Amino acid sequence: MQSQIINHTSQISNSLPVMESFYTIQGEGFYQGSAAYFIRLGGCDVGCVWCDVKDSWDASKHPQLTIDTIVKKAVEEVNQPATSHQQLATVNSVLAVVTGGEPLMHNLDALTEALHQKGFHTNIETSGSSPLSGSWDWICLSPKKFKAPLPEVVPFANELKVVIFNKHDFAWAETYAAQVSPTCKLYLQPEWDKAATVTPLIIDYIKANPKWELSLQLHKYINVP
Ligand code: SF4
Repeated sequence: MQSQIINHTSQISNSLPVMESFYTIQGEGFYQGSAAYFIRLGGCDVGCVWCDVKDSWDASKHPQLTIDTIVKKAVEEVNQPATSHQQLATVNSVLAVVTGGEPLMHNLDALTEALHQKGFHTNIETSGSSPLSGSWDWICLSPKKFKAPLPEVVPFANELKVVIFNKHDFAWAETYAAQVSPTCKLYLQPEWDKAATVTPLIIDYIKANPKWELSLQLHKYINVP
């Protein structure tokens, strides 16, 4: 896995607006089924019409927490299922998934450094529409038509996950598949409310274009956060 520090144009944040954080399994994409601690940051200027976390858009609605507080809670919650003799000061490469909102609206250098110090494997889910910051073991780029990714962010994607809302989105997905690195994993994911009609189209498309794989929002099917 590569670790990347790219941008230092925005100011380093020692506190961030946190909408919610929780320990669950990753429901989507490459790490589907793996234990993952999610940190959902407030703030998004992308404006997807089908967004299922619109409460995240206004960062001022969410408490501003210090990096220490965020990471201390992460370590505590990841350790909670362990028996007392397994309690660790650091975690053993558990995924920490930073999402939003659009997490790159904030400088994430300090957060990722603190997560790495505790042993987390840092993942981000981003539209790529704001400058890249932070040190990432895995970057999931999920481009949105409502605010395109910055061209300089796209080549750093380890995973391209395109949400399919209608049949026109396949051609749009291909424009980004052509821009990511050759090792980038490619996923097509049905928009949740359109899943019944769009999933069969995706399956047909993948059969004809096997470089793509299907990503389902497993956590919604099994009703976990
Ligand atoms: Fe919602 Fe994500 Fe789109 Fe922002 S980028 S509007 S959080 S789906």
